[in-house]
Amino acid sequence: MKCVFCGREESIHKGLHLIKNDGSVNYFCSSKCRRNAINLKRDKRKVRWTEAFHLTRNKENLKIAENSKLVAEEKKK
Ligand SMILES: [Zn+2]
Repeated sequence: MKCVFCGREESIHKGLHLIKNDGSVNYFCSSKCRRNAINLKRDKRKVRWTEAFHLTRNKENLKIAENSKLVAEEKKK
């Protein structure tokens, strides 16, 4: 089962399943993830230790790299 907050694969016997009224299941691997998501209402993309943070960060880095390449090519011309 994949944790909805940190994105880590954990055994289904560990952690906690939060089942919403609409029937969707949110799985949290630890109380740390649960508290960050529910009590602290943190955006997983803004918390450094989650997978989502690294994914969005890598995408941004790629964009920056592409932009700097374009700039470098324009300077050559
Ligand atoms: Zn987690």
